[in-house]
Amino acid sequence: MRTQGDATAKAVMGNVGKDCFYGVSHPLMRGPTPVLRLDVPCAAAAEVWVKRDDLSAPLYGGNKVRKLEHILSEASRLGKTRLVTIGAVGSHHVLATTLFGRAAGFDVDAVLVAQPRSEHVVIDIRATLNAGAQVRSSGSWAAVPWHVMRAMTREAYFIPPGGSNVAGALGYVGAVRELAVQVRAGELPEPDVIFVALGSGGTAAGIAVGLEIEQLKSRLVAVCVADPAWATAAGARLLVRQTAKAAGLTSPTFALSHRLRVDASFLGRGYGYATPESTVAIAEAARHGLTLEDTYTGKTFAAALAHARTEGGQCVLYWNTLSSASFEPLLQGAPTEAELPPSIKRLLV
Ligand SMILES: *Cc1c(COP(=O)(O)O)cnc(C)c1O
Repeated sequence: MRTQGDATAKAVMGNVGKDCFYGVSHPLMRGPTPVLRLDVPCAAAAEVWVKRDDLSAPLYGGNKVRKLEHILSEASRLGKTRLVTIGAVGSHHVLATTLFGRAAGFDVDAVLVAQPRSEHVVIDIRATLNAGAQVRSSGSWAAVPWHVMRAMTREAYFIPPGGSNVAGALGYVGAVRELAVQVRAGELPEPDVIFVALGSGGTAAGIAVGLEIEQLKSRLVAVCVADPAWATAAGARLLVRQTAKAAGLTSPTFALSHRLRVDASFLGRGYGYATPESTVAIAEAARHGLTLEDTYTGKTFAAALAHARTEGGQCVLYWNTLSSASFEPLLQGAPTEAELPPSIKRLLV
C-alpha cells in the first residue's frame, strides 16, 4: 500500500539527503556494494539475490561500516575525541569501531563481556587489541553500566552495542537509497522480500525506514539471532520509530510497522549457537563463494533459502552483513592467544 504521494516522498528524500547523507564527514565506504544473483535451485521462477555488504570497505567490511560512517561523523560534530563502546569479547562492532575510530583519530575504550571461545572470537579480540583499543573486562552484562560510567568523560561519545543508535541506523537508510538506485538502473529486479540478520537492530531499522522513504515494494524480514527474541524485536521497533523521526519521515506508524517482520524461528538455542539449518545454509553459501558464520549470517541465509524454496515467482534478496576482508593484515604484529592479558583470557569461556 502506498501511503505517501510522490511529492511528499520527494520532499522527504530531499530532507534526508541534505541532513543525513551528504553530512558524512568520515566516508568509509568503498562505493555501492555489488548485487549478485545466486544460482540456487528453488521454487518455480523464484530468484535469490545477495547484496554484498561484506565488501563495504577494503580493510574490514560488513554492516558496521555503514553505521560507523554516521556515528564517527556525529561524534566529530559534537567535538568528541574518544569513543566508549561495549560488546562481547569477539564483537565485530568493537573491532570495527577500533579500526575506523583509531584511523579517524579517536581514542577507543571498549567494555568487554564473556563469550564462548571460538577461533573466530579469538581472531576478533587479537585484531581489536592490535588496532589499539583500551579494553576493560566486565564480569557480567549487569556490571557493564558501572564500567561505562567510569569510562565516560566530557570528551567521550558513547556508542551502544552493535552501533545501533539513530546515527548508525541512518547508515542503512542510505544503504536502501543505494539499493533503489541499483533497482532503477536494472542491476536487479525490485525485491519482493529482503532478509537481513537482526541483532542489535540498527541494520534492520535503517532498512525498514529506507524502504518506506524510497517507496520500494519490498517487505523486510529481520531474522532474529539474539535472545530473548521479544526484547530484540521491541528494541528494533523502537529504533525504527526514532530513525523515521530523525529522517523526517512522515508516514503513519502503521505503514512503518508493516515494513518490518521479525522471524525468530531460526534462532535455535540462542545467540551464537549453530543450528542444523545454519550449518546447511553455510555450506550452500560456500558453493556460491560466500563465507558465512553461525551467529548471524548462516541463520539469516537459511531463512532466505527456506522462503525462496516455498514461494514461487519471488525475488528474494539476502543482505550479507559479514566482512569478507582478509584478517591477515589486521593480525600482523597482534598478540597471540597465549599473549592475551589474563583479564581478557577469562572472557573466553
Ligand atoms: C553486528 C552484525 C549483525 C547484526 O546487525 P544489527 O544492526 O546489530 O542488528 C549482523 N551480521 C553481522 C555479521 C554482524 O557483525
